[in-house]
Parts: sequence; structure tokens; C-alpha cells
Amino acid sequence: MKHSPNSPMLLSTSLHVDDARKAISELVNELIDESKAIGDPADIETVSLDQALNRILAEDLLSPINVPAADNSAMDGFAFDGALLNTSNAEITLRVIATALAGKPYEGQVGQGECLKIMTGAVMPAGCDTVIPQEFTNPLDADHIEFKRGQLKAGENRRLSGEDLQLGKPAITAGRLLRPSDLGLAASLGIATLKVKRKLRVAILSSGDELRALGQPLDAGSIYDSNRYSLTGLLNRLNLEIIDCGIVQDDPASLKQAFIAAAARTDVLISSGGVSVGEADFTKQIMQELGDVGFWKIAMRPGRPMAFGILKPVSGKSPARKTLFFGLPGNPVAVMVTFYQFVRAALLQLNGANQTQAPLTQAISEAPIRKKPGRTEFQRAIIGRNADGKPTVKLTGSQGAGILRSMSEANCFVILGHEQGNINAGEWVDVALFDGLL
Ligand code: AMP
Ligand code: MG
Repeated sequence: MKHSPNSPMLLSTSLHVDDARKAISELVNELIDESKAIGDPADIETVSLDQALNRILAEDLLSPINVPAADNSAMDGFAFDGALLNTSNAEITLRVIATALAGKPYEGQVGQGECLKIMTGAVMPAGCDTVIPQEFTNPLDADHIEFKRGQLKAGENRRLSGEDLQLGKPAITAGRLLRPSDLGLAASLGIATLKVKRKLRVAILSSGDELRALGQPLDAGSIYDSNRYSLTGLLNRLNLEIIDCGIVQDDPASLKQAFIAAAARTDVLISSGGVSVGEADFTKQIMQELGDVGFWKIAMRPGRPMAFGILKPVSGKSPARKTLFFGLPGNPVAVMVTFYQFVRAALLQLNGANQTQAPLTQAISEAPIRKKPGRTEFQRAIIGRNADGKPTVKLTGSQGAGILRSMSEANCFVILGHEQGNINAGEWVDVALFDGLL
């Protein structure tokens, strides 16, 4: 479906968050297609593993080896020929001929009536396919053990060569947002560098006459610009290149100039402020000249007004790519919520990630929560556990869109869906955690 940010659907009075997300994703796909058509040799780069965290893998990583490289023992115990289990009595006695350690394989042959003491990870010796764990055996004398036949089947407690990864098969697929385990996995294959998508260039700016930069005195009615700092933190989590365009005054000429400068050198521009009713007309006028931008009223709280679309490539930009534009609301919490809800996924999608949505979990609300049906709400909360060990959430005080403290104290969002009404104490609610462990 051909999408335009100004399509009538999107100008309806209040846009469902799911529809907003869908429209964003469609436009991002168009940009990806256009970008492919233009081509850019610098789109992929090779980086060492220590630089690859949170980058996006550009091509499937094929395993150059089998992992494990050879059949090996999954337990500390005794390796023997499993065929023995079909033929012999209830009690089996074996002579222990030697010991195999991890990294020190036994080179000889294990014959009939014999076994090898083997440690976890040690290569299975020739003639053996089964390991009886140490704790299932009785020592008879210094070099004999016995065990009951019924305790295991042939082939048990052996890890097969290539069981984890097969030579020539993808160990990590293209589009993976690389996590610590992926770096360890690549290293375990002897791979020191990875081909990743180049870092997206993302420009940020704050707009508002009342905003002061850190270090400036606060005159009457002015406030410090905090949005650029929370946005920088959010973007740094994604390992991007950030271009800080500073504070721009509420005047058309400065704003226009700032947008043109950003469109010349970035893939994405994120501004905050200046899109609420009363200010939007002014920004709309500039956007009409510079691109195709819709001004949305989203059925959500916080974060109702948001502008979204593209800025046309300015002359001289190479490659001549459009710039994705997000005009976030000015309220400090609304900035973070709209980033989480819309921008993060769009940035990941634009850079080729195959998974763009953060995972949700659920917890029991400790107290009632007031909620009007007809909009999606994002409440700041702390997740914990109750006496039964079940996950619980408790809201962090005042939920006003400008109150950053409630955000700073929280460790999760409680997300209340569009149709949902009031929540009773003890009801399960959707939760998005701020931090991922790995
Ligand atoms: P606006 O969307 O421009 O109407 O701004 C909404 C509210 O957010 C106003 O109270 C602004 O003063 C505040 N605000 C806008 N931009 C910022 C910023 N960069 N840092 C902190 N507060 C801001
Ligand atoms: Mg403003």
C-alpha cells in the first residue's frame, strides 16, 4: 500500500497507536526500497568483535566449523560401547583402561569389556558411543566399575559433532541486533570480525524559545533543555552516530535552516517540541516546503501530538536519500514514551534489524489504576515481587507528561491497551522493562 503521512486516515481526529506504528513501518519500508535503488557502497562495514555490540549483522554468519568439532562426553563418567547394553546381564562390569580429559583425547582403542574414565567435554574415544555418569557406578577395585544396565540407553550422555552448529550453516542470521552472546558465539567459531550495517546518522534538536542550554543562566520563564540528553541516552543504547543540532528558537527562519542542515547530513532527524496544537501550524508551514510530513493526534498518553514523515534530500546530498523525520512532543516524558513506542523500532527497521519490537511481560498491579478506554496509556512503574513470588508493579507517583522524576525512578512501563478501562488491584497488566539483561 502506497503510504503518505498526510493520507486522510492519518488525519482522523485520533490515531490508534497500532495504526501509527503500521504507517511508520510502511514508510520506512519505502525508504529502504528507495535506498536500495540508489545504492550505497558504504552501507556495510567490517568491525572487530569488541566494536560490534548493538550493531546489526549485515549478512548471515556461516559457521566455518562443526561445533562441537568431535563427539564428546556430556558428563563426568565412563565411556563404553553401547551395544553392550543389548547383550549383557542386568549387572555390567567393565575394566577402566585409561582416563580422557577435556583437551587431552585418548588416542587408543577401547575394546570389549573395557571402558574409559572420561570428563565432560572430552572427545569420545574410538569404539565408544555411550557414557555412564560416575554417580550411577560402583567401583569394584582400582580398575573395575559396575553398574545396572537399565539406567541408560545406548548413545546417551554423548554430544554429537555438529549438534550445536553445522559447518556452512548460518550461526547468526542477517538482521540480528548483536548481543553479548552473539559476540561470544562468533569468537567460539574463531571469527574475529563481523560485517555490520553502517551506523545510522541521527540528528537531534530541541525547539522552543523557553529552552536554555546547560551552563546558561535561567531567566524568568525559561527552563533547561533536558530532551536532548534523554534522547542521546536512548540513542546511545542503539550504538548510532548522533548529530546534536542544539536548541532552535521558535522562529520559522531558524527552524527551516536547522531542518535543511540536518537533512543534508543525516538519515533521521528527531526534533522535540513545537508540534502541539497552537505551535503546529507554524511548523506545518515549514514542513510543506521541505518534505511530506503528517501532524498526528495519537490516541495515547503521554505523547498525543507527533509529526512524522520525510524531508526531501537537499541538493548536494550524496547518496540523495530522504531523511526520516520525527517531530516528538516537547514534554520530557512524552519524548521518551514516543521514542520507545515509535522511533526505536523505526530506527532498527531502517537499519535492517529483523526484530524491532521490545518484548512485553506481565505483572500484577498492586493498586487500582484509573484508565479511560479509547487510548493507549504508558504509566511509569517499578516491578517487584509479592510474598507468593509473583511479579507485581507499582506506579511511581505523579504520571504527568512533564514529570521526569517518575520516569527516573521507574524501571518499567505499565502499558494499558486502547480498549482497556480501569484496572483493579490484583489484575494482571502488560509491562515493558526498561533494561534488558543481555
Ligand atoms: P511543546 O510541545 O513545544 O508545546 O512543549 C510542551 C512542554 O514541554 C512545554 O512545557 C515545554 O516547555 C516543554 N519542553 C519542550 N521542549 C523541551 C525540552 N527540550 N526540554 C525540556 N522541556 C521541554
Ligand atoms: Mg514549544
